Amino acid sequence: MFLKKYSFIKATNQTWKLYLGYFFILIGAAIVFIISNYNDEINYLKNLKAGTWALFLGLGFIILFTSFAWMCVSIKCPSCKAKLFWYAVSCRDFGDSLEWVDRFRRCPVCKANYSKVINHNI
Ligand SMILES: [Zn+2]
Repeated sequence: MFLKKYSFIKATNQTWKLYLGYFFILIGAAIVFIISNYNDEINYLKNLKAGTWALFLGLGFIILFTSFAWMCVSIKCPSCKAKLFWYAVSCRDFGDSLEWVDRFRRCPVCKANYSKVINHNI
């Protein structure tokens, strides 16, 4: 989650989309997790009506999936408009995709490179 110095995302000023997206995904996931695991431990949750409880759970899922979908459509290559976050989660190996987002330098589709400093050895 810590962008490499010359990452494509950083060079194209899209870091905020990545962090905002991760932030809301965490919020959504936390709501879903707490609502589904701690409703007996937390008095406030215990006293909720079933409908309200379901509403909170739904809200958590909505925040989670909306943030994810927003990252997929909004993080793009300025040259060819390729959806880069979507590319990371759909085309890269699962374990490698988020790390790849932090460090890739060239658009995987059109090969554009926005890094201000180009290291010719890499
Ligand atoms: Zn591109």
